Amino acid sequence: MNSIYNYKLEDLEEYLLNINEKKFTARQIYDWLYIKKVNDFDLMSNIKKELRIKLKQDFDTSFISIKKVQRSSLTNKYLFKLLDDNYIEAVLMRHDYGISICVSSQVGCNMGCAFCESGRLKKVRDLETYEIVEQILLISDDINERIDSVVIMGIGEPFDNYDNIMNFIRIINSPYGINIGARHITVSTCGLIPKIDKFSEENLQVNLAVSLHAPNNEIRNKIMNVNKAYNINELIECLKRYIEKTNRRVTIEYVMLNSVNDRLEHARELANLLKGMNVYVNLIPYNETSNFIYKKSDNISAFYDTLKKCGINVTVRKEFGANIDAACGQLRAKEVKK
Ligand code: SAH
Repeated sequence: MNSIYNYKLEDLEEYLLNINEKKFTARQIYDWLYIKKVNDFDLMSNIKKELRIKLKQDFDTSFISIKKVQRSSLTNKYLFKLLDDNYIEAVLMRHDYGISICVSSQVGCNMGCAFCESGRLKKVRDLETYEIVEQILLISDDINERIDSVVIMGIGEPFDNYDNIMNFIRIINSPYGINIGARHITVSTCGLIPKIDKFSEENLQVNLAVSLHAPNNEIRNKIMNVNKAYNINELIECLKRYIEKTNRRVTIEYVMLNSVNDRLEHARELANLLKGMNVYVNLIPYNETSNFIYKKSDNISAFYDTLKKCGINVTVRKEFGANIDAACGQLRAKEVKK
């Protein structure tokens, strides 16, 4: 049976019209599901009985479950168990500007970045839309506070699960439901060019972040397999198209790996590559894990200064959760090993 949490508002409206019901009822259902947080059709008192029976027949409302939560002052890390016993993770972060949640998009990942824990365990399957939506619902239940922003940067490559991610975005963006503004949603990709081009046609005000992590093909080939399919020059050209088309600024993510991509000549090369583009660079301190040889860079502030001097907008990502295994995929890796 199909989960009700797979349904965009328009899909629900279409379903209702097809069974000769009123389109407006979709908003009432959304109100129960996402605002009143009720998933039992029997309790949806403003919906007539015969329709409730029909909804019960046609839709599943099961939930994934929270298997474990690790809490610290600024971060909660959630391990979720899916209905088929697979595991995924999400992280809650408290920023000055509000609460953000980082969700997973796949069980495992096939992109094969050399430094990334999530990709050590290959992709088992894509997440269904409802499994991504329910990460948000369960966390918001757990903390009982307003969620301000959502980043799709957990386990998986969102653009390798494109349709479900677009559905997910439209569901959480709906003003009749969770109502997270598009500008408060960020999707992060390792650089799947055809999907970035497709994304530029979606007419969404959602932020795009791209994991560049290197200033040239030589380094990028060593740490990111995807570069062999879509190289850095093609990727930069694609981002120029994207910016031209959407008029939106792109975030360039750059994980700082000691002595790999963090020397000052790399900063200058990166500045040159990005010159004149409407981008900002987010330098990510590497979250070390025992499974890889890579170390956190000791050169972040000099790298930052060099980019600044070259006129590049740059920030350093605040570090969250190293003490609670918040490097992407670490909790799941532990659970799967058991
Ligand atoms: N597949 C997508 C989104 C998931 S990864 C992507 O590649 O963008 C989210 C970000 O975390 C990526 O930039 C990824 O390269 C980075 N990352 C992975 N492992 C990390 C680690 N141990 N420390 C810091 N950043 C890491």
